[in-house]
Amino acid sequence: MRAHIITFGCQMNEYDSHLVASELVSLGWELVESVEEADFVLVNTCAVRGKPVEKVRSLLGQLRKEKERRGLLIGLMGCLAQLDEGQQMARKFGVDVLLGPGALTSLPEALKGNERFWDLTFKEDLLDYIPPPPKGALSAHVTIIRGCNHHCTYCIVPTTRGPEVSRHPDLILKEIEQLKAAGVVEITLLGQNVNSYGKDQPGFPSFAELLRLVGRMGIPRVRFLTSHPVNFTDDIIQAIAETPAITRYIHLPVQSGSDRVLRRMAREYRRAHYLERIRRIREVLPDAVLSTDIIVGFPGETEEDFQETLSLYDEVGYDQAYMFIYSPRPGTPAYKHFQDLPREVKVERLQRLIEKQKEWSYRRNLEWVGKTVEVLVRGVAKEEGYVQGHDRGNHPVLVPAHQAPTPGLYQVVVKQATPHLLFGEVVGAREPAPIPLPVA
Ligand code: SAM
Ligand code: SF4
Repeated sequence: MRAHIITFGCQMNEYDSHLVASELVSLGWELVESVEEADFVLVNTCAVRGKPVEKVRSLLGQLRKEKERRGLLIGLMGCLAQLDEGQQMARKFGVDVLLGPGALTSLPEALKGNERFWDLTFKEDLLDYIPPPPKGALSAHVTIIRGCNHHCTYCIVPTTRGPEVSRHPDLILKEIEQLKAAGVVEITLLGQNVNSYGKDQPGFPSFAELLRLVGRMGIPRVRFLTSHPVNFTDDIIQAIAETPAITRYIHLPVQSGSDRVLRRMAREYRRAHYLERIRRIREVLPDAVLSTDIIVGFPGETEEDFQETLSLYDEVGYDQAYMFIYSPRPGTPAYKHFQDLPREVKVERLQRLIEKQKEWSYRRNLEWVGKTVEVLVRGVAKEEGYVQGHDRGNHPVLVPAHQAPTPGLYQVVVKQATPHLLFGEVVGAREPAPIPLPVA
């Protein structure tokens, strides 16, 4: 029997897709690369914005046709599966297996019978499951905490993924040990809010302590996603400063620069707190590379509010940013209570923000020209004759393909920068030595 998994959304979904893939393999399934070759197609979904939901709807329409033609088994998992919206789609399009984000370890049971199988529970054994290392991977994700205890008014994640539950540190370290033995050189610790790690379980290390533990394991690069400004505390900044393996790439979503908007978003911090955290990061980690998430056009956002987002961007001078148009999500407080802004207003603000981001990313990228960076080359780039990887600051870096014939860590001198890319030349052996980043 052959299975094909299609993944939408964030790194946590990528991790979960790998987890179910390893369940399928242990059940004797062969994983294939296309729907056409598969007897079972499992779609891992995202419900954070309307766009990925619509993509899943149209994919399910195609899969239903395929099912009518040749008797395909269809599975739906992830955030959308947890919601009424996803369950209605599942009924409409003849989904056979539906698993919420907490029910992934029910997959073997789901595939036992011929009955339609739905599970929306949050199972404890999911936290204990250690997927085997992905074959040939140099970079891997490790989930350290599931769920979210925040209640940002625009966000569906607390509904779909439930409250925060930290994984036992022994399991995390064991999983990383196995990844290291398999040749992985970069680990990304994952959670909706990694800073909260350990808070729900007495006796667990704090996130800062976990960083130190993982940083001592001999993995050349350790990254983490995502942090919340409300609890990005000094001990975390200190742990990063004192642990060379931890990369100084800090993704700290701000969402808006306006206090009025932050309050309506229920973000639990204000502009001054956020900027104080940035000041502290820059003081202790002058070489930090900073990125953020910003939502434009949140209900009630005025031009003045938006100007505050632009001015905050200038104050921080982010290296990178992920920018989203506000998407009203059924089931969230903002959807229920607030009037959405006209689309043209949101699109126009996004365009201005993208201009700002390009200016800053270009400025920041230019600072790297002439510096040596450590690049984890992953594969062939879109640009002909180049391979692509990323440095310790998460910048995409391109080098001539003949200079890095196999994937791995390379020392690269940056020769040229664009707003989105660095171009360089390989100068050194593949030494996994942490390279200090230049002062921004
Ligand atoms: N937990 C992380 C945090 O608090 O920043 C991020 C998780 S969320 C899945 C990823 C990003 O999606 C958020 O930072 C936010 O910018 C964006 N997002 C969430 N809900 C959204 C919505 N309804 N419309 C637009 N963007 C949204
Ligand atoms: Fe969503 Fe806010 Fe939780 Fe992040 S912290 S997952 S944005 S509710």
